[in-house]
Amino acid sequence: MTGTGNAREAMVARLRGAGITNSRVLAAMGEVPRERFVRPELAGDAYGDHPLDIGRGQTISAPWIVAFSVVALEQPPTARVLEIGTGSGYAAAVLSRCVGEVVTVERDPTLAARAREVLAELAPNVEVRTGDGMRGAPDRAPFDGIVVTALAPGEIPPDLLDQLAPGGTIVCPVGDQRVGTLVRYRDGRTEELADVSFVPLVPGSPEA
Ligand code: SAH
Repeated sequence: MTGTGNAREAMVARLRGAGITNSRVLAAMGEVPRERFVRPELAGDAYGDHPLDIGRGQTISAPWIVAFSVVALEQPPTARVLEIGTGSGYAAAVLSRCVGEVVTVERDPTLAARAREVLAELAPNVEVRTGDGMRGAPDRAPFDGIVVTALAPGEIPPDLLDQLAPGGTIVCPVGDQRVGTLVRYRDGRTEELADVSFVPLVPGSPEA
């Protein structure tokens, strides 16, 4: 096995040790080459248990929070899922191996273009959109699951609630100043899942 293959297997073993048991999610994390989603000079550190800088002031989330969020969505293999905050595209790639179809929205055009390129190669069932994810993707709604990977200020963005299919699930970090709570919304009820730290969700149009 290659060095990155070993590092990836070791990451999956640590996720198991940290309580992730969903075999589909573990298989996906064991397949997606995380080093392709980080800056080349950080590739040697791609499988560490921490977020990494991806440029443009943003980060790729730590492996555990990616796994935990996808597990928390509890979607079947046929589901249509919306992700807000494409970033590197890594979480979208993992998600794409667990569900039928992924639409992911990124505010930063540079990050969106980069993610679109790598995902076209590694995850053909992902559509990357550039725009304000707080508005969702109304023309593609409803979604069985919606996962937000940036901290929503105060509450789940109302437009996302409107774009959820009946019985669907939203997983979203809510809080301010980078720290908050990962919440799960379903059938009108909100459940707190974990204390988390995320970059903020920034409202408004994309900036070039
Ligand atoms: N899921 C990513 C990590 C996301 S970091 C990964 O796997 O790499 C959060 C991302 O949300 C950043 O790239 C940031 O630019 C983006 N973001 C912030 N506000 C946004 C908004 N309103 N709409 C869409 N994306 C947004």
